[in-house]
Amino acid sequence: MRRCAKCSDKGTIYLPEHRLSLCKTHYLEWFESRVEKAIKSFRMFSKEDNILVAVSGGKDSLGLWHALWKLGYKADGLYINLGIGEYSELSEKKAKAFADKIGKKLHVVYLKENIMDIPTLKELQSRPACSVCGTLKRYYMNLTAKKLGYSVIATGHNLDDECAVLMGNVLSWNIDYLVRQYPVLEEGNGFVRKVKPLCLVSEKQSAMYAFLSGIDFVEDECPYAVGASSISYKLIMAKIEEESPGTKLRFYLEFIRKVRPMFALKQNVKLNPCQVCGEPTTGDVCSVCRLKMRLEASKAGMKQNF
Ligand code: SF4
Ligand code: ZN
Ligand code: ZN
Repeated sequence: MRRCAKCSDKGTIYLPEHRLSLCKTHYLEWFESRVEKAIKSFRMFSKEDNILVAVSGGKDSLGLWHALWKLGYKADGLYINLGIGEYSELSEKKAKAFADKIGKKLHVVYLKENIMDIPTLKELQSRPACSVCGTLKRYYMNLTAKKLGYSVIATGHNLDDECAVLMGNVLSWNIDYLVRQYPVLEEGNGFVRKVKPLCLVSEKQSAMYAFLSGIDFVEDECPYAVGASSISYKLIMAKIEEESPGTKLRFYLEFIRKVRPMFALKQNVKLNPCQVCGEPTTGDVCSVCRLKMRLEASKAGMKQNF
């Protein structure tokens, strides 16, 4: 039986990539120190910042909010209700219960009231649900943070999420996306700063943290997540990680340290305020306003090609 490296209690959690065995108390401490390390090394924010945590009701985002709360950061939550039936109802309930438990504010934005719910949007157009959902979540996160005066948006993307995205972008050598893959996206041009403080912890470690902290999170995945290519990339990475612990962390950090700087010079996207809503866009009218216009036109009975 392995013993905790910190207190010699019986170790319950073994972290092969760090060759570390920890008891429950020291695991929770270790996890929070990893979050703090990401915050400090990538200069994400300070104790003075007002942070808005984008919560989905799942283990990662609620775990992140919990860790920030424990570490003494000023962090409130934002839940975007996507209108995906029981999944959205349950996740909103869990996010609200968690906010009550830690005594923090949770802001809720309903897509149905602002534009349209995801299932209806999916019916109306030929794009996959996740692509329009991602655009809308980013848009309402930014808009809400600005409106409510938050200087930073924190999301619960973990190391596995980042490695899956990195793998997808490397496989297609998508340089524009590779340039933007960094745990901090600076503020400016109408964007609030966006950060990923869980980028140094794996999905398994994040699940363990949420479970050991007694967080009541939604275990079911969003029904539209099935079949996403990121899931197969995660499975492939998990297989490699099992055979060679530490590969994920190396793949991600070495990209950040060695490869990304080579592409960074290419980062030269010009942004303007959208002529309709004022949010940043590369064109004249942003993609959400264009989507709204198409929806209005189709409601008015005009023949539209979604
Ligand atoms: Fe949105 Fe797709 Fe994520 Fe579901 S799986 S929440 S549709 S991005
Ligand atoms: Zn211990
Ligand atoms: Zn707009």
